[in-house]
Amino acid sequence: MFIPIDRNIKLVNVPKQGNFPYCTCVLIDDQIRVLLDSSCGPDLAAKLRDQGVDILINTHFHLDHTLNTGDLGPVPIWCHGLDAPAIRSVDVYWQMYGFHLYDCEELGRLLVDAYHLEDRSVQRELKDEEILDFGQVKLRVIHTPGHTPGHCSFFEEEKEILFSADIELSAVGPWYAHHCSDVDDYLDSIQKCMDLRPRLVIGGHNGVVEGDLKVKFLACRDRILRKEEKILKSLKGPATLEHLALEHTFLFPKLDFAPDIISAYRSFFNKQGVYKHLQRLIRLGYVSQEGDYYFKL
Ligand SMILES: [Zn+2]
Repeated sequence: MFIPIDRNIKLVNVPKQGNFPYCTCVLIDDQIRVLLDSSCGPDLAAKLRDQGVDILINTHFHLDHTLNTGDLGPVPIWCHGLDAPAIRSVDVYWQMYGFHLYDCEELGRLLVDAYHLEDRSVQRELKDEEILDFGQVKLRVIHTPGHTPGHCSFFEEEKEILFSADIELSAVGPWYAHHCSDVDDYLDSIQKCMDLRPRLVIGGHNGVVEGDLKVKFLACRDRILRKEEKILKSLKGPATLEHLALEHTFLFPKLDFAPDIISAYRSFFNKQGVYKHLQRLIRLGYVSQEGDYYFKL
């Protein structure tokens, strides 16, 4: 059930870690047994519960990182203070997606109901740069916002291992199509991870990443910048967000809903993703907005 990274760090062997709603989960098998993220499926979560988990750390609030928390039994949850409200309250959860801003409250509720999300208590709010000492393994909290405001990565300094969560070094990421996402923060967070010069990265959906990590971090950054260039280039005349969102799509998870609901979700996320870039382009002075229309300057 585990893929050992070393004596104290083990990947939970989640068969569908790359597919929604699963993720890469890591067990710190130390004096204190800690699980990083819980969306490993109910069966693996139940096995982990039987073996004993002392603390669950959620890298961020998304359901594909928190889904099987209930199957772990009563385990204290730690996460960053900026994502804690969305774990504590499902109402806050879908508001952080931004469903309420696009008249999509019903879509938000459907998502929450389909995955049986529940309010959970968070026992400890993590802060940037604090060291979490579990015995042999000591994790430094690296606050890496952008994907979500409280998204955290964790660095094992001595082993030079970075748990990067959804700063994904694969074609899956980066993803920032939520109301609570921020493209500038995401770019800064990629740089912050790169500056740590990890020997090995464990991503949130693709497990161990090795090789030239600097090149992979830069490729991650470039995927964001290329998207932005394409959006800017497509602004040949005045265009509305609705129009641009038809042209520029963002990666979308496989959800088990009827086709019309899927298409409503897809449209919602595309609008949010394009909107994030437009706001940045306005800040950078490349674009202006009048009413519902965006113009290239
Ligand atoms: Zn996520």
